[in-house]
Amino acid sequence: MIPVQGVENQTIAVLGLGRSGRATAAALRAGRAHVVVWDDGTDTRAQAEADGLTVLDLTRDQNWDGIAALITSPGIPHLYPKPHPVIARAYALGVPVDNDIGLFFRSFATRDWDAFDSFPRVIAVTGSNGKSTTTALIHHILTEAGRPTQMGGNIGTGVLSLEPARDGEVVVLELSSYQTDLARALTPDVAVFTNLSPDHLDRHNGMGGYFAAKRRLFAEGGPDRAVIGVDEIEGQYLADQLSFGATDDRVIRVSSGTKLERFGWSVFARKGFLAEYRKGRQIASLDLREVTGLPGEHNHQNACAAYAACRAVGIPPREIEAAFHSFGGLPHRSQTVAEINGVRWVNDSKATNVDSAAKALTAFRNIRWIAGGMGKDGGIEALLPHLGHVAKAYLIGHSARDFALQIGQTPHEVVETMEEAVARAATEAQPGDTVLLAPAAASFDQYPNFEKRGEHFTALVPALGA
Ligand code: ADP
Repeated sequence: MIPVQGVENQTIAVLGLGRSGRATAAALRAGRAHVVVWDDGTDTRAQAEADGLTVLDLTRDQNWDGIAALITSPGIPHLYPKPHPVIARAYALGVPVDNDIGLFFRSFATRDWDAFDSFPRVIAVTGSNGKSTTTALIHHILTEAGRPTQMGGNIGTGVLSLEPARDGEVVVLELSSYQTDLARALTPDVAVFTNLSPDHLDRHNGMGGYFAAKRRLFAEGGPDRAVIGVDEIEGQYLADQLSFGATDDRVIRVSSGTKLERFGWSVFARKGFLAEYRKGRQIASLDLREVTGLPGEHNHQNACAAYAACRAVGIPPREIEAAFHSFGGLPHRSQTVAEINGVRWVNDSKATNVDSAAKALTAFRNIRWIAGGMGKDGGIEALLPHLGHVAKAYLIGHSARDFALQIGQTPHEVVETMEEAVARAATEAQPGDTVLLAPAAASFDQYPNFEKRGEHFTALVPALGA
């Protein structure tokens, strides 16, 4: 655990007692703060009390006296569509609102550092898609290279549950837009922006707010190195804004598809090869075609971002290349779960938005596509240009009929359930086909989360071979 610094004897309120809220309360206590907590759930509050936490009703004005800060969780809206009433109260009373990420950056450096040979460093990864894959890949490369490293944030361990950093350690964090939007301190040494496409627009009141939230990772502290995906205009704008000119190598530009030769530092993938350029010269080239854990151009983008971040902390190209080959990929992201009678079964349950589904639909051929769930704002029309590889779509969940209306000429069938989708696809698939779960929708209409949806799909698959 990382004890929070600078809160000694202060009263700090924690809103939301999920995993991160509880970890935050513990880290604040370790920093000798007086912690009071609140959660909308009666059972959660009762449990907190049983665990020895002080529950205080923050919906009542008179209880706010003496509260120095409110720490909230990423799942709780802090501005749009409308702020949680407790957060609105804090704004109205002028009580600073922060989150665990802000507390982490404030508390990261400790007295132990006086004796360290090399400072610990933080690599923080944000973007619309590929955050988890890139974060896990960076962590894997560092581990393989023998560097002390920990990983956390939006993936795995919450930031304050990490261990205090060791001499020379690199901490790799995945940060969502909810987290970057609110953190009052954001000072990674290396910040990574993978890409931008519409998602979570309700929480950010549109694309501008969404981009602004992610941009804070680069604006608030100013990282030593910024690794920026420039395949969208927002990435190009950000890279431009952060550098004095094309040759400024504090920005490492990254692309999947575009040759970037004229910049101070760049990494790009084309036709299955990754290239690194420094000051106009190619200094490394690496074959990604046989890297089985990172299939498709979208994963080549992640490979470039992870490569750049690891180069920024001094890992040599050949060590990165070796680690690419031992990376197993993450579950639910373009994950091949079975090959049965010449048919490949791929679980990309994490493809909850149009862009990630589009990437999966381009990465494979002869696709039997299982899609649907809780569709997002904007519908799936943006997917139409990417349906060329789809032999047939099997539509499930709440948005199945909406998707059917938007899908145009692509053969499709509304099947409602995952069981039915898998059964139909299994009957109709030919050798050489890929059955791909890439829903382009959230899972909440039928499942508690995307993991459960992916597990259900995967559990149904082996039954086919029997
Ligand atoms: P995040 O943590 O940003 O959600 P993940 O690595 O979990 O990213 O991947 C989320 C989804 O996006 C998966 O469906 C995955 O296959 C797809 N994906 C992964 N990397 C990219 C990328 N660079 N661009 C677009 N989609 C991607």
